Amino acid sequence: MLITNGVVVTFGKDHRIIPNGAVKISGDKIECIGESAVLESKYPDDSSVDAEGQLIMPGNICAHTHFYGAFARGLAIPGAAPKNFPEILGKLWWKLDRSLHAKDVEFSTLACLVDAIKHGTTTLIDHHASPGSTIGSLDIIADAVKKSGLRACLSYEVSDRNGAEETEFGINENERFLKKMTTEPDSMLAGSFGLHASLSLANKTLEKCRAVAETLNTGFHLHAAEGLADQEDSTARFGKRVIHRLHDAGILGSKTILAHCVHIDAWEMERIRDTGTWVTHQPRSNMNNAVGVSPVETMLRGGIKVAMGNDGFSNNMFAEWKAAYLLHKIWQGDPRAASGNDVITMAVTNNAALTRIFWPEAPLGELSAGAYADIIMVDYQPITEMTAGNLPWHILFGFEASAVTGTMAAGKWLMKDRILTTLNEREIAAHSRECANAVWQRFAE
Ligand SMILES: [Zn+2]
Repeated sequence: MLITNGVVVTFGKDHRIIPNGAVKISGDKIECIGESAVLESKYPDDSSVDAEGQLIMPGNICAHTHFYGAFARGLAIPGAAPKNFPEILGKLWWKLDRSLHAKDVEFSTLACLVDAIKHGTTTLIDHHASPGSTIGSLDIIADAVKKSGLRACLSYEVSDRNGAEETEFGINENERFLKKMTTEPDSMLAGSFGLHASLSLANKTLEKCRAVAETLNTGFHLHAAEGLADQEDSTARFGKRVIHRLHDAGILGSKTILAHCVHIDAWEMERIRDTGTWVTHQPRSNMNNAVGVSPVETMLRGGIKVAMGNDGFSNNMFAEWKAAYLLHKIWQGDPRAASGNDVITMAVTNNAALTRIFWPEAPLGELSAGAYADIIMVDYQPITEMTAGNLPWHILFGFEASAVTGTMAAGKWLMKDRILTTLNEREIAAHSRECANAVWQRFAE
């Protein structure tokens, strides 16, 4: 199959723009990219889709998200509004996740996947919690992902906050799903070992998780130093800072993802860098929770691999890019902070590198021969010259969410001309509203 007559934005090592470009797709991979006229004459028998001058780009990647959080939209929290991050956890998230039944997990996931397809996010690294409906929850999510045609890495947030039995269920759910990924591999799915955060985990739980993870050759996916409370808890209970505690427990490493790292000091950064651990940045969530700003420029400068997620905000990753670009400027009082290139380093380059842990067979996040055919079409007519060098600023100042018109993952169209092909948005939204009503009722009880 050919996608012709577009402006091909490659990202990746080549990082170039091919005007009048085309992409040739074979199975789930890109066979080659090049000039439209050249590929059309080389592959005259291929079916072709005319991009009509739109941008042809790699699908976006989201390095940290929560499909379980979709029904928080519009939910009223009883009583006084939460005044800090621990209260946001206690009054909202830890009540919402407990209110989810299996059907709710399914539709909360599907609602997020519709959003991801519409906004061109083709790979999502999810961090799930539904205590009370833990066992089998990752299979429910996996089935929804398969139905959607998207690509996702799943994990269950182990936490001691719901008692010993739930801790056990969470560990078992990660173990079960990770084993399944080896006995029944699916090229669109992967797994990681999920942990909630230092503040909700005892040492003996961390020990147990590490022992299980070791047998499965996996890293971890957890929140770290998202709010100050995580540091206060760790220093009070264990006499050490969060990252040192996690390091001593064997949680850090080149397959582990730490979401946020807002409140870490220089020595914690050193530990993160030296262990090759990944950090993900979610500026919209950090602003919304008023937890502070993650020092991502300092981390990047020192060689820490900072990627970008959305923490359950909209799956329009371009909106997350914009938030990062703006937040660091106002925070530092310096318009030079967080350049467009820094944003691309996190959201494109590092996100793509992170996915190789889970999909080692071929690159994602770039258009190149041999890469996965995860591709989006963006209806964007540059009003000034667009080059590989100034591309980040065209995206940051020019792209709107509605500009994505086509989404493909593994060579299959999931949305074409803004019409979804695998999921029915109206039906999913209607079911979601029904589920959400019941969840809201349980939440209020
Ligand atoms: Zn999160």
